[in-house]
Amino acid sequence: MKFVLLALLIAAVIWWLRGARRVGKPPAGSPPPAPSATEPSVMVACAHCGVHLPRAEALPGPDGVFCSEAHRTAGRMPR
Ligand SMILES: [Zn+2]
Repeated sequence: MKFVLLALLIAAVIWWLRGARRVGKPPAGSPPPAPSATEPSVMVACAHCGVHLPRAEALPGPDGVFCSEAHRTAGRMPR
């Protein structure tokens, strides 16, 4: 009985180590999150279509921020 408990304990430790390693090291191929010094989590809405995107990726325009160059151009034109 003691041997079974010891085997279970070893299996649990191995499972825990594999899980911890998976969390600590992302799989190859996925780029690491880009370090952004200024407000990485602030979300803004596109003034044309209303989609939310990080402020760092938003394009500033005359009437607010836009999600893409096309929407910034469209926002400038009269609808
Ligand atoms: Zn948009």
